[in-house]
Amino acid sequence: MSSVLVIVEHDRGELASATLEALSAARPLAAQLGVPVVAAVCAGTDAIAATCAEYGASETVTLNHAMLSDFGPEAWGEALAQLVTSSQPVAALACGTDRGNEVMAHIAAIIDAPMVANCQSIDASASTWNITRVQWGGSLLEDCTLTATTKLVTVGHHAFEASPAPAGGATTSSFEPTLDASLARTVVVDRVVREAGVTLTTARVVVGGGRGVGSPEGFGILEELASELNGKVGCSRAVTNNGWRNHTDQVGQTGTRIAPDIYMACGISGAIQHWVGAMASKKILAINTDREANMVTKADYAVIGDLHKVIPAITAEIRRRR
Ligand code: FAD
Repeated sequence: MSSVLVIVEHDRGELASATLEALSAARPLAAQLGVPVVAAVCAGTDAIAATCAEYGASETVTLNHAMLSDFGPEAWGEALAQLVTSSQPVAALACGTDRGNEVMAHIAAIIDAPMVANCQSIDASASTWNITRVQWGGSLLEDCTLTATTKLVTVGHHAFEASPAPAGGATTSSFEPTLDASLARTVVVDRVVREAGVTLTTARVVVGGGRGVGSPEGFGILEELASELNGKVGCSRAVTNNGWRNHTDQVGQTGTRIAPDIYMACGISGAIQHWVGAMASKKILAINTDREANMVTKADYAVIGDLHKVIPAITAEIRRRR
């Protein structure tokens, strides 16, 4: 049966929230095409299948092979390509994370089909799909058409909201790919333990500091404000280049892409490479001495002033109101 096949991303059984976005993006597409959403998961678990069902997969196919137990782009790509070849979906869709794009690129190369990455909108009302996708790190929206028989797409991370589907029945099945040991070219050999609790990617409030903060010690007032709001401190590349903060705190094209409820950008000019990492924020408050700074002109709210005075004043007012 034809379908929209959603490639599930997980790390040793921990489902990536990006997959929920992919499933949510796949539902209207599948409805437009009159086919079901089927989830495909390498070395999946019952819990993953249950969540996929909750987000609209009418079937979850688990691909079983010892080489799939941990992430390996070549092995995952080959296994999923075999499933695509055997099940002939109308489309295979993943979220455009690093892993999602990498695995889909492998599938595309193996089945010799074109792939469109980081789509923002997809119109599947005709056999040629009209797609708008993000290019150049988020600074360009490109309209394109996709004519392939099996359409391979990834949707931009944060471009679609994850929402559970109305209740419906779901089935599970398995698929046994044939994999050669030579496919273990890229394997995970070590992991840096993730910071516990709120991270830059999950924080609802991010207080970002740029060159305007002036020194590593200057970040103390940003830490204080972030902790009042249960948020995280981020920074620009000027800051990491100066060695004031770790690269793990950097927001932007070569850092982390954030999507908090509010991003407070303090002493950050808003260069395009920073903006692409911050633009998915629901609201932006810029604090800057320069009213013409890009960040100020793009922000929802702005305070024109010295951050060393403005930030302590905000923190004090929050404490006073509490
Ligand atoms: P500046 O541009 O120097 O801005 C400082 C701002 O602080 C100014 O607007 C100024 O008015 C304000 N200011 C100064 N003093 C105060 C004060 N007391 N109170 C309030 N405001 C004050 N950048 C990133 O951030 N992330 C990336 O991932 C990234 N990737 C890059 C990738 C490439 C390939 C390249 C070429 C560049 C990349 N950059 C990235 C760098 C980017 O182009 C900018 O250079 C950088 O973002 C500038 O950082 P900034 O805004 O802190 O500094």
